[in-house]
Amino acid sequence: MAIVRKDGVKAWVTVMYGCNNFCSYCIVPYVRGRERSRTMDNILEEVRMLGCQGFKEITLLGQNVNSYGKDIGDGTSFAGLIREVNKVPEIERIRFTTSHPKDLSDELIYAIRDCEKVCEHLHLPFQAGSTRILKMMNRKYTKEDYINLASKIKENIPDITLTTDIIVGFPGETEEDFLDTLDILEKVRFDNAFTFLYSKRTGTPAAKMEQQVPEEVKKDRFQRLLATQNRISKELNDMFLGKVVEVLVEGVSKTNDEILTGRTRGNKVVNFKGDSTLIGQLVNVKIDTVKTWSLEGNVVK
Ligand code: SF4
Repeated sequence: MAIVRKDGVKAWVTVMYGCNNFCSYCIVPYVRGRERSRTMDNILEEVRMLGCQGFKEITLLGQNVNSYGKDIGDGTSFAGLIREVNKVPEIERIRFTTSHPKDLSDELIYAIRDCEKVCEHLHLPFQAGSTRILKMMNRKYTKEDYINLASKIKENIPDITLTTDIIVGFPGETEEDFLDTLDILEKVRFDNAFTFLYSKRTGTPAAKMEQQVPEEVKKDRFQRLLATQNRISKELNDMFLGKVVEVLVEGVSKTNDEILTGRTRGNKVVNFKGDSTLIGQLVNVKIDTVKTWSLEGNVVK
């Protein structure tokens, strides 16, 4: 049975369980087992039901959604799945997470480009910039592979918002390795990055690696990483000033009940004045204030 969490506007649908990747720092394959995909019929039935219940946005979930269907073995693919979900009439927006760079196919890039309901947002964890560290992490791509993939995505989907996950202080990470991580930030220019200090997970190969990085070194790198990413996030948000964006209204602000909150197709949080009858609707908002993590504006017709 799928796990679905709901807030009235957005629903999350698990499309597969487990993971086959065995990244050397991660416990998931040991605790959740190998990849098992739900059938497409089963997922579509659930999405249609959610659409009939009034949900407007579906996020398809899996540890590694890009390998969805490989275990079914009849040509079922994630690109094929999102093309089918795109046909469900009541659903306005489709998102998915998480993508592994090594499994992100051209077919999926084209499906995101072609399907009008699939939001232009891709969360694509790169974890580390150094090819040497990526090998130790067992990620199965190089720094250059990742940068080339990001370029290909941007060429095909010019409005794409890219976000990522980064681990700082993986065992053996030198200053030079860390500079490769900063270099990817500067080259790809993510809208947002979820950054983590490496911490040992008992039972994983990385936990037994020598050359664990001292905490103070990790923390120093973490601060430099945040400063770089915060600057880039703000610079990218600044480009929205004066623009009109489509926002799916999710609810009332937690801090001010006259303010509504929602997200753009690129997953940017937008706060604006409005009444609660707009919740669940798509509205156009003209942006007049830009912050590092959110945008503000007014509804326009
Ligand atoms: S980090 Fe993600 S892809 Fe790697 S083993 Fe863990 S769940 Fe799988």
